[in-house]
Amino acid sequence: MKNENVQNLPVAVLGAGPVGLAAAAHLIEQGLTPLIFEAGAAIGANLATYRHVRLFSPWQYNIDMAARRLLLASGWNEPAGDDLPTAGELLDQYLAPLAAIPTLGTNLLLRSRVTAITRSGFDKVKTKGRERAPFLIRADTPDGPRQFLASAVIDATGTWSHQNPLGADGIPAVGEQALAHRISYGMPDVLGAERETYAGKKILVVGAGHSAAGALLALAQLAQHHPGTQLVWATRGDQLARVFGGGDADGLKARGELGMRLKALRDAGGLEMRQNFRILSLTDTAGKIVVTGEPLDGPAPVIDGIDRIICAAGARPDLALTRELRVRHDPWLESTDALAPLIDPNEHSCGSVRPHGHRELAHPEPGYYAVGAKSYGRAPNFLLATGYEQVRSVVAALAGDLAAADDVQLNLPETGVCNTRQAYVAQQVAPASCGVASPSNDGGCRTRTEVRCCV
Ligand SMILES: Cc1cc2nc3c(=O)[nH]c(=O)nc-3n(C[C@H](O)[C@H](O)[C@H](O)COP(=O)(O)OP(=O)(O)OC[C@H]3O[C@@H](n4cnc5c(N)ncnc54)[C@H](O)[C@@H]3O)c2cc1C
Repeated sequence: MKNENVQNLPVAVLGAGPVGLAAAAHLIEQGLTPLIFEAGAAIGANLATYRHVRLFSPWQYNIDMAARRLLLASGWNEPAGDDLPTAGELLDQYLAPLAAIPTLGTNLLLRSRVTAITRSGFDKVKTKGRERAPFLIRADTPDGPRQFLASAVIDATGTWSHQNPLGADGIPAVGEQALAHRISYGMPDVLGAERETYAGKKILVVGAGHSAAGALLALAQLAQHHPGTQLVWATRGDQLARVFGGGDADGLKARGELGMRLKALRDAGGLEMRQNFRILSLTDTAGKIVVTGEPLDGPAPVIDGIDRIICAAGARPDLALTRELRVRHDPWLESTDALAPLIDPNEHSCGSVRPHGHRELAHPEPGYYAVGAKSYGRAPNFLLATGYEQVRSVVAALAGDLAAADDVQLNLPETGVCNTRQAYVAQQVAPASCGVASPSNDGGCRTRTEVRCCV
């Protein structure tokens, strides 16, 4: 295919979550055509799994500027900037009207799960002329597997559909798959649709992030109405400063309050706390789940009598999609490589990230960008505002406006917990291959600021 013909192809946007739809809005503004693939039956399929959850960032941070301009031109009623929407309200009051705008909606393919991305006529090894070849997207669609050509790819598939397992080693605990029907990954609606499943039960919540905090607080509310409900909270480590958060110092009031409410619940004895509990296996004993942890100073610790487990241990990106592209990820975060030093939770807890754009998000494969939650890989603390600035910069670069693409602006509210490197130092049990070094890359060793680890 001739180069000018490739340039006329649409830009593939993978995922119709908030960041993918924002990318599409920017493409439309720049006169480029998006072709949006969404695995779900409707847009925002990941957000829809936690519709009931109230977000901690108010509307003013949750709306992309290009999307806003398109929406206002279509007669949209903008929600009040200071209000905190639920995930469902974000979907209904912002993303659904956006997807209904004809220039966007006509280029949206629902029930279309992308299964692979490559370059037409080129496997990963072949170099000569590859940058001129169009991208080839294969997707499972209602009409069966189909292939599409694109001039560039913006991958906004998120991480939420690939939840981390309970196993502390990063692989499912022994017995986890067999008991999957009694485990919820993410944030089930324990006060609404799934109330009956949890009321009066003994529930184990695993994780030390905002999702775990939200799940525990909702369960505590459930326990007020159903006194038989018992809560156990297990964390792998013993550093709770990050989940308890910065309180009043948090730039997002609701995020600060979430941590403070969780701390108050713990302090009041509203739950059984099991720290340093690294899950190894699950068994079913007389209808109850018995969870066994790694022995640390004595016999293996056990949590027994459990009816249900909520696993809120984070999520990971689907790297299989880009198996045939030349991509460069951070070895442990699985984020876009250049982003890793800015977001590594071993070193940062502020919740802020330096402004970054198309240059940091680029891969060795020209024209492919991972954006949104996927760009962070396994690192937490991704905020919508970050994703919106990412896609503004990426789309400006694709449109050839490098001045705008390089002018990245990002001013994020901090968590108020800015003890950089604190968590890393606490977790480090003096591994032989780690040491302190000046920033450099060194053979099999990776350097991030002044902490060096061999991988
Ligand atoms: C419980 C919770 C609360 C949060 N609260 C906030 C908050 O208050 N403020 C904030 O700024 N951020 C918040 N976040 C973080 C973040 O902003 C959200 O996770 C956000 O949804 C990320 O947007 P995204 O578009 O990158 O990914 P997602 O919203 O995950 O969207 C990805 C989309 O891609 C689709 N998809 C996946 N795989 C494929 C495929 N192979 N082919 C086609 N489509 C595919 C999915 O179905 C989905 O629609 C929260 C996250 C969670 C989990």
